[in-house]
Amino acid sequence: MRDLSRDNRYLSINTATFGGQWDLTRIVDGLGRHGIPGISPWRDQVQALGLRESVRLVKDHGLVVTGLCRGGMFTALDRAGLAKALDDNRRAVDEAAALGARCLVLVVGGLIPHSRDVIAARALVREGIAALLPHARAAGVPLAIEPLHPMYAADRACINTLAQANDICDELGEGMGVAIDVYHTWWDPALAAEIARAGKGGRILAFHISDWLVPTTDLLYDRGMMGDGVIDLPGLRSLVEENGFDGFCEVEIFSRDNWWKRPPDEILATVSERFRTVC
Ligand code: ZN
Repeated sequence: MRDLSRDNRYLSINTATFGGQWDLTRIVDGLGRHGIPGISPWRDQVQALGLRESVRLVKDHGLVVTGLCRGGMFTALDRAGLAKALDDNRRAVDEAAALGARCLVLVVGGLIPHSRDVIAARALVREGIAALLPHARAAGVPLAIEPLHPMYAADRACINTLAQANDICDELGEGMGVAIDVYHTWWDPALAAEIARAGKGGRILAFHISDWLVPTTDLLYDRGMMGDGVIDLPGLRSLVEENGFDGFCEVEIFSRDNWWKRPPDEILATVSERFRTVC
């Protein structure tokens, strides 16, 4: 396991962590002030600034784009809407390529509207990813399926375990990988085995960190700062690293009533300190 206690060399921030308080330009300035070399932007922030200007910004600051958030949502419309979803996903791949992102994160989508059929949703997701993959391969952008905690199966992602994500990677092959988010996966009894399986295929493309608070008061907006909850962060980091992951730890905290209300510089200072002491 790498010693990350001395510096921020492998630290990245997902821009959602600021809760919209800063635009991309201010975020990049903030990362510079706090010596944080990695960023994972959301597409709306990139689009607000403009793709070309965003590319220039991250390159000028020498930032590593550890992922672009996000593609996916293959089930958001319905089967007929898949073509539209795919168009948007192809644009996301192109944006990721322009930014030099290490992967495009896929939050795959929940149930098809007006449907109770989670099996059909999963089939549509698989079909959507398979249809997107040739474009991603041609652009050199790996696709990272992010399994989400089962509480999001209805509305955000019907891929809920690393095993499911690994199955799709096995089936589709080259160009596929996974984003392992501790918040979504820490509880899974098969996690160690599935991390090993992902590692064997060289498929661990991203590692997202935050913490699980007890009690959790909101399904979406109550993620904790590392160290404030119950996730064994060093244990999980050592698992991914033992299985070949040597990339960045990407902090991603959705915290509407706590961190998003704090000054972004305080968020960055706390993230840096916790990263070195807790993770
Ligand atoms: Zn994540």
